[in-house]
Amino acid sequence: MVVRSRFPSLYKLEKYKQCKIGDRFWRQGSFFGWAWGWVKNPVSDDERAEWESHIRVINAASWKGGSDSWVWLGASNGRFSIRSVKGLMEKEKENANIYALNWCKWVPLKCNIHAWRAEMDRIPTNEALGKRNIPMANSMCSFCGTSVETANHIFTNCLVSMAIWEGISRWFKMSPFSASSVRDLLNIAKTSGLEAEKKDMTHKTIIISCWSIWNARNGKIFKGKEEKLKEIIGEIKSLGFLWYKHILKRKTLEWFKWCNQSFI
Ligand SMILES: [Zn+2]
Repeated sequence: MVVRSRFPSLYKLEKYKQCKIGDRFWRQGSFFGWAWGWVKNPVSDDERAEWESHIRVINAASWKGGSDSWVWLGASNGRFSIRSVKGLMEKEKENANIYALNWCKWVPLKCNIHAWRAEMDRIPTNEALGKRNIPMANSMCSFCGTSVETANHIFTNCLVSMAIWEGISRWFKMSPFSASSVRDLLNIAKTSGLEAEKKDMTHKTIIISCWSIWNARNGKIFKGKEEKLKEIIGEIKSLGFLWYKHILKRKTLEWFKWCNQSFI
């Protein structure tokens, strides 16, 4: 078992990186035990989870004596072969679960990238920062404080985002929608049954909304600014209008038509 790749957080805590599991085991007569050499005890969520898993693996192992040997886990007989590597690669291809975001040309790149990263849970939510050992007061949602702040929570399950999606669905005169993940959210327009142009507009507005929700969340944390729902929805409409009109050069588009969605 290679601790470095299987338990990276524990590996960071090990004082002597070259040591083997056996080096931490001691036996004296009929007494035996473990003498770990941590820089500090495992305390973070990641470290504790890895520690528990590590102990489970050790307890499940049986030592038969003799020297260590390498076993290739990619084949049932434990022997490495190019054929088994190919088999694993094929399997990986089948299981590929990569989401392809429909990028929008009239929405700034920063918003597209933000939505793309949110779908992969690669934005600095309180939970993600905690996992990277950045000291946080807590990992709860910055808006509602009732759930762990993950990308999925903040954009789909949080009371704030749910109210915003309700406002957006009213604005687009479509049935209220909800999503259980950011991916679901970014697929809402696709399955909405709306006509092509409105579908496209809904998708872009969801991308802008995620951007505005995230900005409101950051404003609350870093500036102590409590934005009201009306203000967040107002910003989503204004940014959409500004970018749609100027980036697509729709100079004749008027604000009231945008607000009524009567220009589509
Ligand atoms: Zn929340």
